[in-house]
Amino acid sequence: MPENTTIDIDTATFKGSISANTGLFIDGKWVDPVIPETIDVINPATGKKIAAVSVGSSKDVDIAVKAAHKAYKTTWGLKCPGSQRGKLLTRLADLLERDRDQFAALEAINVGKSMITCARTVAISFAHALGKPFNIANGGDLSGSINCIRYFGGWADKVQGKTIQNNESKLAYTRREPYGVVGQIIPWNFPMLMLSWKVGPALATGNCIVLKPSEMTPLSALKFAELIVEAGFPPGVFNIVNGYVPPSALHPGITVGQAISEHMNISKVAFTGSTLVGRKVLEASAKSNLKVVTLELGGKSPSIIFDDCDLEKTVRSAMQAMYGNMGQSCVAGTRIFIQEGIYPQFIEKFTALVKGLGQATGDPFAPTTKHGPQVSQVQFDRIMGYIESGKESGATVHVGGERHGTEGYFIQPTIFTDCTPDMKIVREEIFGPVAAIMTFKTEEEVIDAANASEYGLAACVFSENISRAVRVAHAIESGSTFVNSAQNIDPAVPFGGYKASGIGREHGEYALETYTQVKAVHVSIASL
Ligand code: NAD
Repeated sequence: MPENTTIDIDTATFKGSISANTGLFIDGKWVDPVIPETIDVINPATGKKIAAVSVGSSKDVDIAVKAAHKAYKTTWGLKCPGSQRGKLLTRLADLLERDRDQFAALEAINVGKSMITCARTVAISFAHALGKPFNIANGGDLSGSINCIRYFGGWADKVQGKTIQNNESKLAYTRREPYGVVGQIIPWNFPMLMLSWKVGPALATGNCIVLKPSEMTPLSALKFAELIVEAGFPPGVFNIVNGYVPPSALHPGITVGQAISEHMNISKVAFTGSTLVGRKVLEASAKSNLKVVTLELGGKSPSIIFDDCDLEKTVRSAMQAMYGNMGQSCVAGTRIFIQEGIYPQFIEKFTALVKGLGQATGDPFAPTTKHGPQVSQVQFDRIMGYIESGKESGATVHVGGERHGTEGYFIQPTIFTDCTPDMKIVREEIFGPVAAIMTFKTEEEVIDAANASEYGLAACVFSENISRAVRVAHAIESGSTFVNSAQNIDPAVPFGGYKASGIGREHGEYALETYTQVKAVHVSIASL
């Protein structure tokens, strides 16, 4: 029997013991993997172990897929009315809201997120609606997760087909049917958000799930499985198989992510992670059963700042867009293009804010912390490598550029100036707190520069000339463009990438399409 782990936290922002199961969650039960193996889970603020969780193999994926199929055929899928699925999702959102602080604390200790930011009650998406300035304090991973699950709970009884009136001798109509069993593979940067974005639409449309959290940040997903049971979802509807990457001595071959991607009885895989691994998932699908694949991948998003922007608001938004979540955000506005006329004023104010963020770096549980550690030693080394590359290629470290403190994986919020388009720090996704600043003269010039990227996930445009802002928003090759705001993502609005940033859309009605397949039914009504 897998064991429970208890994590004791005694800080100014959270005091309590959180217990979480460390096994695999399959068919509504906690089970040990077929080949017993564990992986250590690390606190990135200290580099010390928090817990050890079980990791599975392709054998466990097989067992989970069988359980999911059984549930799909007997208690879920077309056997369960949409209204009932909606009720369960709404209950799940309520439970998540009840336990918000515990989940936020797990994200803080396992990912290094600032507890204050992570647990905020005002969601990013609603900050604007409430007329609040968008800044780091209004964010909230947990609010985003709760809103997302609740939003898709509302859709569960509204999934509809169409009737097609082409021929009076037949009744032709379509149904939107679930795929059956879907695989979901998520990254470490927003464990609860990415989980909710995937679980919400999949369950609303009647699919059963085999989910693999990131090997680095499995704790909140495991805790989430407890709420799935408490909410009353039938066994087998939601399953978790933790996986280890790279292959270990015990699991030399196929890892869990790969096993999900090539499983013959999984009909769709939703993947969020790097473009490199996204390609592997697509290849695995092509070589197995041609399962439908949706990909949410990397980015190198531009923030475009025109002379006529509202400077105070723009500086705050550009900072949030760049440094939110320690720069470990797929939509991070890492290429900052500033029109020449406003450059001196912008850089002065931006520098002051970023230095302030540097001073608010530290223990994720401290009430004053706004900037925590990077998630792992590997990420820390990677980002420091990029900072070195920036220096070697001739860019100027304007702020930061060093590690912060002596323990954990902290990096100072960093600004590079004097950047040119050919530099690695301008072209590649760094996934850390490193901004590349460039200037431009004309609208045409900045559109070309912003589009000169293999990625196309998001962009921010700042201008008080709304005609220009909208014109540029349309010309940018990105799945989302935010005008005069940072990334105020909303569960009702589709999200996804152009170019190498992805395939398919999450959120909104569009997500329902990616979790259902269309069946056409032709009923002859002609008299013979
Ligand atoms: P990653 O690609 O290394 O890992 C993502 C997931 O894939 C993890 O669960 C990992 O274990 C799994 N995996 C690894 N090898 C696999 C394989 N061969 N087959 C199947 N699964 C495998 O990404 P990461 O480092 O966890 O996350 C950072 C990346 O995620 C960044 O590139 C970021 O831009 C991207 N991201 C994108 C979005 C988006 O919505 N577009 C959101 C968040 C993160």
